[in-house]
Amino acid sequence: MAKAEFHVIGAGPAGAAFTYFAGLKGYKVNVYEMLPAPGLKPCGWAVPRKVDEILKIPSELILTEIRGFRIYLDGRLVGERRESGVWGYIVNKPLLIRYLLEQAERVEYRVRAHVGRQGLIIGGMLKAESSSVVVAAGNLWSDAPRDRIYAVQVLLEFDKRLEDPDVVEIWFDSGMVGYYWFFPEGEKRARVGVGGYEEPQSLLERLERFLREHPKAKLGTRVEPIRGSYIVVSGPQQHLMDGIPPVIGEAAGLVYPISGEGIRPALESGKKLLEALESGKPLSKLMEKTVSMMMRQKKLLDIVKRAPSRLRAAVLEKLPIEASIALALGDVDPLTVVRKVLSRLPLIG
Ligand SMILES: Cc1cc2nc3c(=O)[nH]c(=O)nc-3n(C[C@H](O)[C@H](O)[C@H](O)COP(=O)(O)OP(=O)(O)OC[C@H]3O[C@@H](n4cnc5c(N)ncnc54)[C@H](O)[C@@H]3O)c2cc1C
Repeated sequence: MAKAEFHVIGAGPAGAAFTYFAGLKGYKVNVYEMLPAPGLKPCGWAVPRKVDEILKIPSELILTEIRGFRIYLDGRLVGERRESGVWGYIVNKPLLIRYLLEQAERVEYRVRAHVGRQGLIIGGMLKAESSSVVVAAGNLWSDAPRDRIYAVQVLLEFDKRLEDPDVVEIWFDSGMVGYYWFFPEGEKRARVGVGGYEEPQSLLERLERFLREHPKAKLGTRVEPIRGSYIVVSGPQQHLMDGIPPVIGEAAGLVYPISGEGIRPALESGKKLLEALESGKPLSKLMEKTVSMMMRQKKLLDIVKRAPSRLRAAVLEKLPIEASIALALGDVDPLTVVRKVLSRLPLIG
């Protein structure tokens, strides 16, 4: 491995994390990003605090420390929790990616550099030598899993300081498998979006309605237009993670299917891939815990998708706030939680 040179396709959190850890160990890393700058993909920028176990996010890149959750169902508040401790962060994702790319000397990254599948060469730029290792960290690179949902989002700005700038809101609608979010960003901004199993146009209409009706959102001014993207919810694709080239991040299905949380597992996969390449162990083995939690979440998602909306609403109603938070943070076995809740419900016809 000492002489290996890496070619990383895609400068999202996964590719940037791999680059960071490989760069710090002195490897030469070339990064290719097809967009004009890193981190342009629409995203809520929320990460659970457990991200600290993967890497320390510089404090100046943390826009909000999340200390509270509110859960709504069909417009009603069904759970609320506030802590003195920190549950997670809203991070400046583009700056975090840039930071990860810029810490080591032997790293070069290019933007507007789309790498095609044909022989890994674009405009003669990428010519892999035998000592080179290609890392696929971009959705469009690999045979991206087709099981995905769409999500749309907008950034709002407010004249006055938000009432609870450290509380995130999740709004469920029993008529949809998915959710809306209101994520404060600093004291006068918020990212508001919706994602789920519906067509992009229908999600767009849902978001417009939500923005008109949400008590805080309706007071905001749009800083950016509404933008959307797909989120892979297939669960981890171990054959891609352990394949050649190795695939990391969302392109390998490494997203928590219930919450759509993809930044933390992308960072983890970037870090662990270096360990896998150095040790010869499979990446899927090194990420065993995350992989198995995601697979269980995927099973639950498949059940939720098939369930009638009345049952979904009843489960959400009975779900203790702690369980919702733990599910959102990917901390508990989702099937156990739901089994417990179902045992408390009357039989629903
Ligand atoms: C609206 C929305 C909100 C979200 N909110 C959150 C959230 O709050 N928290 C969270 O954890 N997750 C969230 N996600 C999911 C999260 O954004 C992704 O799962 C995460 O960014 C995945 O990181 P990644 O590095 O694997 O892939 P990406 O972020 O997709 O990065 C891959 C990069 O590779 C580039 N690329 C792809 N193909 C090529 C190619 N052939 N050549 C060159 N470059 C290429 C892309 O342009 C991209 O920049 C959200 C997603 C959406 C759509």
